[in-house]
Amino acid sequence: MGLDQIPVTGLKRVGPKLAERLHKLGIHRVADLLFHLPARYQDRSRLRSLGELRAGDEALVEGLIADVQIAQGRRRSLKVWLRDEPHGPGGHGAGGGLMLRFFHFSRVQLEAMRVGRRLRCFGEVRQGPQTLEMVHPEVQHRLEGDDDKGDIGTAVDAPLTPIYPSTEGLQQISWRALTDQALALLSAHPDALMDLVPPEIVAPLGLPALHEAIQRVHRPPADAQVQALVERTHPACLRLAFDEMLAHQLALRRLRQERRQLTAAPLAGKGHLRSRLLAQLPFALTSAQRRVADEISRDMAGTRPMMRLLQGDVGSGKTVVAALTAVQAIECGRQVALMAPTELLAEQHLKSIGGWLGPLGIQVAWLSGRHKGAERGGILVDIASGDAGVVVGTHALFQAEVRFAELGLVIIDEQHRFGVHQRMALREKGAGEGRLPHQLIMTATPIPRSLAMALYADLDLSVIDEPPPGRGAVTTAAVPDSRREEVIERVRRACAAGRQAYWVCTLVEESEALQAQAAEDAAADLHERLQGLRIGLVHGRVKAAERGPIMAAFAAGELDLLVATTVIEVGVDVPDASLIIIENPERLGLAQLHQLRGRVGRGPVESYCLLLYHAPLTAPARERLDILRRETSGFAIADADLKMRGAGEVLGTRQAGMAAFRLADPLRDKELVQAAQCGADLLLEDDSPAGIEGVTALIHRWLGEREDYGQV
Ligand code: ADP
Ligand code: MG
Repeated sequence: MGLDQIPVTGLKRVGPKLAERLHKLGIHRVADLLFHLPARYQDRSRLRSLGELRAGDEALVEGLIADVQIAQGRRRSLKVWLRDEPHGPGGHGAGGGLMLRFFHFSRVQLEAMRVGRRLRCFGEVRQGPQTLEMVHPEVQHRLEGDDDKGDIGTAVDAPLTPIYPSTEGLQQISWRALTDQALALLSAHPDALMDLVPPEIVAPLGLPALHEAIQRVHRPPADAQVQALVERTHPACLRLAFDEMLAHQLALRRLRQERRQLTAAPLAGKGHLRSRLLAQLPFALTSAQRRVADEISRDMAGTRPMMRLLQGDVGSGKTVVAALTAVQAIECGRQVALMAPTELLAEQHLKSIGGWLGPLGIQVAWLSGRHKGAERGGILVDIASGDAGVVVGTHALFQAEVRFAELGLVIIDEQHRFGVHQRMALREKGAGEGRLPHQLIMTATPIPRSLAMALYADLDLSVIDEPPPGRGAVTTAAVPDSRREEVIERVRRACAAGRQAYWVCTLVEESEALQAQAAEDAAADLHERLQGLRIGLVHGRVKAAERGPIMAAFAAGELDLLVATTVIEVGVDVPDASLIIIENPERLGLAQLHQLRGRVGRGPVESYCLLLYHAPLTAPARERLDILRRETSGFAIADADLKMRGAGEVLGTRQAGMAAFRLADPLRDKELVQAAQCGADLLLEDDSPAGIEGVTALIHRWLGEREDYGQV
């Protein structure tokens, strides 16, 4: 029986509970385990000296215990100071120190921590209040001259330890045990896992066979090219990345083919609403806007459902294109759903689109999570009756109780924030008997056109490649946070001169609570130092009902300074804001920084972006900030990002929706993207039952239950 058929419960120690956890990750069969690939590796092949450690490193270190303390404080903790050995890897012992911190520790562990002892440990280095720290590292005690006896911890120095994507309650050690079993089955029965990519496609690439690639990626041999594996440029990684890209490409092409079988109501109209809208705009469209609006308009007039991606840098003016598209549908008696990733942005669309369409007699409704009871009921009635021509909202629009009278067009802003499933749910709403609403997806993700065409092979692409005229330049400078006072002074002067400013607090932690706290602290501090200024605060924990008025006040010039988390990242449009301070920019990817900076430079005055970094910067972080200072176009930034990215650096694009890949990185492996496109052409030519089945199996292997990837 093939490994594609054997359920994971066939493995040892996989009971119903574990099986259920695995199912949640889409792992049902043994083969699924083989394709559950390490997200990364911990490089434990090199012992680092304490002196060379930097915050953020994951490192294997060895040192002598210099001091041990139990701190009582708010949380009892064990603190252990390590120092480089006199003749250790650090050289002369003049090197660095490191503090290990344990919040949970047993008596045995405590007793083993004796001054003068040698300790080897692995963990993540953080900047503590006094010195670099490791919190709960994996520890191995080393006794003089004898590595085996007296060890308390576990062996921490296996060369390349795979780290698997996981879920709550599943330890890395379980993943290793599970994949061990699957790999053993594979080597005992090589025929049980079919290579679904024909040799004529793989051979020219010079990449290893599937089996070999799988074994290596899961269990890198001791002599493996460590760096290549970590950076994912090893041939074994590339082979799997290729298969994955091919599977995606096939899935997207199939989606496109399937969509071609469907029909949509042609929404041509005579264009009178469009003319009235244009006549009333305070500006003329750029030629790029005119071009994309025409492309979209032509699609909508067709009998196939439009599925178009509108790409345009921040501030390039996508909203007005959306409005033009909307009125075309409305003129044909259809409704439009416009979705934004956050309430804040939905509200902003309500304002701008409502402002343009209201005078044309079109009702623009807003459905938000905060609408409750009778108010909500009333809005739902307006939507169901068709009175509301445009409905703006967040994912609240997906709820089953939201019924449209005649939904003809769905516009999705910043699509990467939307889950595929949500997009599908919305699509269903208009899809009766093989009919789909037209769809327009807007994104500011600046990826090169060729790549966009590969990544969104199921979509047609329109690009706004020219900013509206009359934009003031944005001057960008990097300033160390030791000069925070000066920066605050700068804010004071700008606001005194009638300008408005953003102060953005960033935290690398995902936790909304921590982000919110950082913003609150910063706001309190700025309040104190900038007395007399009107300061607003928005973050993820400020209730939507309060956030709206704060944003509105800022937009209306009633606030001078807006302190915010990255919630303001996308879309917010306040043309009079001309100064933005970004704290800890070194923690963000380039794409995100570019998005943030796009909040200023929207009006005619010269704008400034100050990147308030925390020294010392790593070389790649410095380079990133340099790129940002030099370049203003999103595409140029994406390009530079691409050229410089090395291992371990946060990818801006990851946040921008390309994280759907397990292993492949289409930005890095450009040649593989092309090869996958050609491979897909070749495979789809074969319309024999076996050929079709093979394609289905390959898609299933890599996308599993996520076969709907890319579907909108
Ligand atoms: P984004 O593409 O980032 O969504 P917006 O649609 O928010 O950009 O547009 C940014 C700003 O530029 C808005 O204030 C908008 O009114 C203005 N704008 C859009 N098109 C033009 C144009 N052709 N001429 C002048 N200003 C424009
Ligand atoms: Mg926008």
